[in-house]
Amino acid sequence: MTAAILSILALLGIGGGIAWIRGKKQKRRADLLAKPLPEEWQEIIGKDFPRYQGLPAELRRSLDGYIQILMAEKRFEPCGGLEEVSLRMKLLICAQAGLLLIRLKQHGFYRKLKSILVYPGAFQDSGRRRFGLHEEEDDFTMLGESWSTGSVILSWESILAGARNADDGMNVVIHEFAHQLDQVDGAADGVPILQDRSAYQQWAKVFLRNYEELVEEVERGKGRRSLIDPYGATNPAEFFAVASETFYEEARQLKKNQPDLYDELKRFYGVDPASWERV
Ligand SMILES: [Zn+2]
Repeated sequence: MTAAILSILALLGIGGGIAWIRGKKQKRRADLLAKPLPEEWQEIIGKDFPRYQGLPAELRRSLDGYIQILMAEKRFEPCGGLEEVSLRMKLLICAQAGLLLIRLKQHGFYRKLKSILVYPGAFQDSGRRRFGLHEEEDDFTMLGESWSTGSVILSWESILAGARNADDGMNVVIHEFAHQLDQVDGAADGVPILQDRSAYQQWAKVFLRNYEELVEEVERGKGRRSLIDPYGATNPAEFFAVASETFYEEARQLKKNQPDLYDELKRFYGVDPASWERV
């Protein structure tokens, strides 16, 4: 904090100072939300993320604003020999992460998240407690991790694959950022912040039933045939993360197979991806 800001804070008193900073932040966000996304950025995103082009115009306008806010507020760090997190990398992360926010209430722009760490490819698990997505048959090679302490770790290969294949049910950015939404209240339990008490009751009922069904299928060895990735049977937090991937990437199928789960996610995210153009 600069000396000038500190003296203004002293003049206004602490409460007034905090309100002043909050007001500045809100104004900056409102400006970014109203600003069109630079054409060069639109082209970069459109090239590798067909979902961006296929969004209804009104939703795409909202997404453009969210992309700009995430680009401005999050720190990006190259890891594992990656020289820099390029503009293309940042945009593809923010476009996919922003998709979850388009109509979501109370998201605070992933308020706990400060840093996004990017590896060139799959990376080794730190071995500490985390909510990650690992390569099949290998618990220690990670594609992504989400920490409640303020960071998300991603592999560039997976970021790109997730963006390019909008309908294969796998998207590491959606997965890790869904964990961020879940973790924002301090508990990674598969229950994000909801509107009211009845919403929590309904969520618990629907999610528990669908989670238990997946666990049972996996135990019976039939998990491979389920629409939701069997990794979701690990625990309720992973179930919410993989169900979010399915919701955005295989919406029509999810709506048909598990309409109660689809409706619950639709209510939470505020969008209806089954009605979007196929990409
Ligand atoms: Zn996970």
